[in-house]
Amino acid sequence: MLDELCAAGSPLGAYEMIDRLAAGTGKRPAPISVYRALDFLVENGLVHRLASRNAFMACDHGHGVHEPAIFLICDGCGSVSEVTSQAATQSLRQVAQSVCFAPRAQVVELAGLCARCHGAEPR
Ligand SMILES: [Zn+2]
Ligand SMILES: [Zn+2]
Repeated sequence: MLDELCAAGSPLGAYEMIDRLAAGTGKRPAPISVYRALDFLVENGLVHRLASRNAFMACDHGHGVHEPAIFLICDGCGSVSEVTSQAATQSLRQVAQSVCFAPRAQVVELAGLCARCHGAEPR
């Protein structure tokens, strides 16, 4: 399952995942078992869930489960990249602590245009 996500390099919905697994193994897995496996991967920080796309993406940063992931999602070409930021990690932690909130998932999604789509070179 993780192999499929890593190979995709882009977010996959649960049903796209089922299609890929079926194509790879010739057997169509039950959605419930795919969702369970995805939940497990998400809980262990190997995969992130993108709420705005209802899709899952493999994490290649190897950051801790409790580190926030920041996704830059391009409206133009649909590319998604994950970045991490020490400063953002600290700010999110402070915000949560200030209201005694215990975060479960820390996923920040920024929607917009990637460098290619708005014609700028990345700095
Ligand atoms: Zn990540
Ligand atoms: Zn783009």
